[in-house]
Amino acid sequence: MAQAIGETPHNTFTCQLCGLSSPYTYYGQKPPNTRAIVLLEECFVTRDPFSPDRDKFLVLGSTCSLCNTCVCVGSDCSLFYTKRFCMQCVNKHLDQFPSQIQTELAKKNPSPRPAVS
Ligand SMILES: [Zn+2]
Ligand SMILES: [Zn+2]
Repeated sequence: MAQAIGETPHNTFTCQLCGLSSPYTYYGQKPPNTRAIVLLEECFVTRDPFSPDRDKFLVLGSTCSLCNTCVCVGSDCSLFYTKRFCMQCVNKHLDQFPSQIQTELAKKNPSPRPAVS
């Protein structure tokens, strides 16, 4: 019988943009042991280790709907607008997002200051 050797017992989610990595317990849209929760997207979730409530879970991240990169839900790494987009794709297709989102992003990422020596 084949044995899995050297494999970590947990599946690990790793954000490919910021490197955040954390074990996850479930990938999908409807985490088990939660009542009537259906997520808007398929994502990596883990049970909230700080909550005694078994229904509590944390969403770690998801995959970009365009390039399939694993990204965390941090606002520096991805954006959810009807679907999940990684920041690389958001920047690439920025003109296709509504101006409201473009404004939000512009606020967050001020254009780089000119180098002053
Ligand atoms: Zn990240
Ligand atoms: Zn992407």
